[in-house]
Amino acid sequence: MSSNAKQTIVILNGTLIDGSGNAPTQNEAVVIEGNRIRSTGPLPGDVRLQGRNDVNVIEASGQWIMPGLIDAHTHLSYGNPKVPGEPRGRGTTRPEFNTLRAARNAQKVLRSGVTSISVPGGTWFTDVAVRDAINFGLIEGPRVHCAGRMIVTYGCIEDEEPSWVGTPDHSIGILANSAAEMVAEVRRQCKHGVDFIKMADSRSGESQNISREEISAVVQEAHRRNARVAIHSRGSGSTRAAAEAGVDWIIHADLATEADLDAVAEAGVRIVPTVTFVERVLEIGRQVGQEQIQINLDRMKRHLDGLVNVLQRARALGVKVLCGTDSGNYTWMPYGELHAKEPEIMVRYGGYNPLEAIMACTRENAYSVGLENDVGVIEAGKLADIIILKHDPVADIRVLQERSNLSMVIKDGKIVDLGNDTLEESLLTFQEEVA
Ligand SMILES: [Zn+2]
Repeated sequence: MSSNAKQTIVILNGTLIDGSGNAPTQNEAVVIEGNRIRSTGPLPGDVRLQGRNDVNVIEASGQWIMPGLIDAHTHLSYGNPKVPGEPRGRGTTRPEFNTLRAARNAQKVLRSGVTSISVPGGTWFTDVAVRDAINFGLIEGPRVHCAGRMIVTYGCIEDEEPSWVGTPDHSIGILANSAAEMVAEVRRQCKHGVDFIKMADSRSGESQNISREEISAVVQEAHRRNARVAIHSRGSGSTRAAAEAGVDWIIHADLATEADLDAVAEAGVRIVPTVTFVERVLEIGRQVGQEQIQINLDRMKRHLDGLVNVLQRARALGVKVLCGTDSGNYTWMPYGELHAKEPEIMVRYGGYNPLEAIMACTRENAYSVGLENDVGVIEAGKLADIIILKHDPVADIRVLQERSNLSMVIKDGKIVDLGNDTLEESLLTFQEEVA
């Protein structure tokens, strides 16, 4: 092991928000050795700060120390924006270009203080490749926990082409029209290294397109292979079926009834409402008109109402709510800018207090990246994924959304170069697309 690998980082002073929901405390020292947190609280007696060139001392007086943010719903490899001169198709038809862009997207995410992301779907096995490249140290990025293409049936979201075209490899859905076909697809994706399986029912919950028996078949096969299962489900029937089939988390659940949410609570299934996406659609739609973004705003308002209800009922029922944003879903869902919008929404609409919302995007979200024992909390033994903020996120949860509020990001015990990315790049791509 090189001496660099044994580097010790000591964060002195500062207010510690540990991610577990505990009240913030004035902290003397967070000691990081290698890629793990050795201690919080008083500086251990054997850690000398003077006369050692292998100790990096960071003074955090007047600042706030938190676990790195986790986004339970970010896509790195969707094909937006389209590349000039390419054939039609929802995604880019060039895997090589798509992979390079996904790598750049990952860097932007990390530089915004997000140290882990859960990626529920993408093109080819792009996200698997980006994850592996990050883990090998080839490129910079957050910890990536990813699914492959979403398992869909005819008529589901992401079954965009006519049946005689099917779902080409550059699309983010893959057709499987029976339990047997779905099980085969689970096996194929696990062989290629996905961390979990994503299923996707109808776009807006207008119909139930996947049966409980089919979801069960996927859950059983995936769990046998130690892969979890997530499902896009806005509808009542699909949400109930998913809960009863034992999926690990449900994305959206907007139109769930009281009885459906009771079933979710009873099954102990988590929900990733992803209100951020709906809010952003309404905001952008008001700016440029719904024709430009080709999404019906009245429908989106109904989804927002449904999601607010889900947030409030989930809190009352003790259903665990994870924070996801759908960043990367469209060009106007830019990387590095929306990952901490969901906690603000939980506070503003859902009745959660700021510490609960912070816990949702740290400790609770660790489940969405399969690291519930290792990240999301600052305590001895955990992986050293930490952010230091110039302002207090408990006083104003929106502090988490501004990159200018970040004074440091540490991932896996290493200080991240925050670069000098600007907003212009993402705005440019958005303007190009709507022009
Ligand atoms: Zn999504």
